[in-house]
Amino acid sequence: MKIAVYPGSFDPITNGHLDILKRASSLFDLVYIAVARNLQKQPIFTTKERLALIRGCTSEFENVKMDSFDGLVVEYARQVGAEVIIRGLRALSDFDYEFQMALMNRHLDENINTVFLMPHEDYTYLSSSMVRDLAKFGAEIGSFVPANVKTALLKKFRE
Ligand code: ADP
Repeated sequence: MKIAVYPGSFDPITNGHLDILKRASSLFDLVYIAVARNLQKQPIFTTKERLALIRGCTSEFENVKMDSFDGLVVEYARQVGAEVIIRGLRALSDFDYEFQMALMNRHLDENINTVFLMPHEDYTYLSSSMVRDLAKFGAEIGSFVPANVKTALLKKFRE
C-alpha cells in the first residue's frame, strides 16, 4: 500500500490545498493530511480548529485521513508508514524553500521521497496568509476557500 503524508500549517485550509489533496488522493492509496503543531509563526486557528476545518471540507475523500504532528515530518511519515511527502508548488517563489526542505528530508531519510504537485493555475497566487489578510479587511473570499472556512474566518475577524 502506497501511503503519502501532506504536511503543512493549513491556517486555514484553502482551495489550493484541496486541489493538491485531490491530486494526491488519486495517486496514492492513503493520504494523511497532517497539521504541523510546532509552528514558529503564531497561527490564527488552533490545531483543533484547523483539523475541524479540514474535516468539514474533506469528507468526499475516502482515502484521506487527517492528523497533527510535532517535530520532524520524516519521523511522522515513518510512524504512519508513508514513503512519500506531498508538497504543493505554486510558482518559482516556492522553489528555493521547498528544494532545501526536500533535500534536507532526504538527507534525514533516504527512503522517503518528496513529490511535488502543481495546483490548477487559478490557485497559483493563493495562500493561507493572503486569505487571512483578505478576510481581515472584509474582502470577498468565497472563491478561495471552502464554505466552512469562509464562515470560520468571518467569525474569527468579527470577534
Ligand atoms: P507550510 O507552512 O508548511 O508551507 P502551508 O499550509 O502554507 O504550510 O502549505 C502546505 C503545502 O501546501 C505547501 O507545500 C504549500 O506549497 C502548499 N500550498 C499552499 N497553498 C497552495 C496553493 N494555493 N496551491 C497549491 N499548493 C499550495
